[in-house]
Amino acid sequence: MSTQGFSTLAIHAGAAPDPVTGSRVTPIHQTASFVFNDADHAARLFALQEFGNIYTRLTNPTTGVLENRVAALEGGVAAVATASGHSAQHLVFHCLMEPGAEFAAARQLYGGSINQFAHSWKKYDWRVKWFDIDDPDSLKAAVNANTKLVFAESIANPGGLVTDLAAVAEVAHANGAPFVVDNTMASPFLCRPIEHGADIIVHSATKFLGGHGNSLGGVIVDGGRFDWGANAAKFPTLTEPLSFYNGLDIHDVFGAIDLGGGPVNISLAIALRAFALRDIGPALSPFNAFLILTGIETLPLRMARHVENAQAVAKWLESHPKVAWVSHADLPGHRHHDRARRYLPKGAGSVFTFGLKGGYEAAAKVAGGLKLFSLLANIGDTRSLVIHSASTTHRQLSDEQKIAAGALPEAVRLSIGIEDVADIIADLEQALAAV
Ligand SMILES: *Cc1c(COP(=O)(O)O)cnc(C)c1O
Repeated sequence: MSTQGFSTLAIHAGAAPDPVTGSRVTPIHQTASFVFNDADHAARLFALQEFGNIYTRLTNPTTGVLENRVAALEGGVAAVATASGHSAQHLVFHCLMEPGAEFAAARQLYGGSINQFAHSWKKYDWRVKWFDIDDPDSLKAAVNANTKLVFAESIANPGGLVTDLAAVAEVAHANGAPFVVDNTMASPFLCRPIEHGADIIVHSATKFLGGHGNSLGGVIVDGGRFDWGANAAKFPTLTEPLSFYNGLDIHDVFGAIDLGGGPVNISLAIALRAFALRDIGPALSPFNAFLILTGIETLPLRMARHVENAQAVAKWLESHPKVAWVSHADLPGHRHHDRARRYLPKGAGSVFTFGLKGGYEAAAKVAGGLKLFSLLANIGDTRSLVIHSASTTHRQLSDEQKIAAGALPEAVRLSIGIEDVADIIADLEQALAAV
């Protein structure tokens, strides 16, 4: 792994001046296909005997720079970019799950992920067992020797709750299951879950990585530490000879491959690309890869400002007479304050909720009365954003699921941007005054 600092990696990791043109910024390789040197070269690429570009559904040089950069920032061994955060999750499950198999997931998740796991996955007969991040017994009850993977968010959307990553990793590993962490809300600037036991990271790059609300994207990072061979019967895609690759056993060939810096285990990344991305097809557009790469160059600066503004706004809201509660883990009274100090020493992010004493009506009115804030379904933009989760993103969930996810009727979710904090607070002040 590189010894360079995070801000240096955010600008340089994976990139080099273009060898043909000298272009300093990574070019947008807006092409569907790549020319082979000859028929032999083509055959070697298709057989995975040599790495190279074939077709943009599999690899693309612009997207490749993004993949290497996010892998470096997360401290993983390889990454695969996808068209969205949801498709990143789909590919991970496609590689690890089998029909009728079970996995465990935290109840405190992005509403879209709850829908994906509870409903769409049923079509594949992938069975979810939910656990509560505040209830270790529920985690133990949800995970057993048949569990294929354990899924949680580092900071849970929308409530700004913090998962005890090391504790979840321990239970997952004791049962031979990899721990998958959605690190969208923290970004690798605030938290690097692989350092706390995570095996696989998924991102909605649409959010803080890209950071400007202008492009959808997803990234999966392979931490390279999970021993697929030791759990071979559970993960046949990775450990059994694949008939469609002339009997290739992915873990055998890619479980300890030397790409120049000593042996690394990139089995999952290979399976994600050569099997899941190839067959399911949610490739990232090279243009979006370019925009997300440009966004990542300022990730450290943006995240520091996001957090600074969010902390000031949370503190201000806490003392407002019309506000019942504020759920930001950097506030000393928050139930996850100690977890935040352990896992998020640079700050607990800029997406959080607060509750109105006036309930559902007041929450909807404040969300609709803000002017600088944009009322929309997204997070992680330079702009400040607001939504009333109970009537929108979490609307399809049952009341019980809403409460578990932190989308209470009186709750307003904010994603604090990087504008001047005085302007953000002034906008909240006028919207609250109208209630
Ligand atoms: C937005 C989001 C997703 C889904 O990502 P898309 O890019 O919208 O597909 C997954 N997890 C979290 C935490 C998110 O905020």
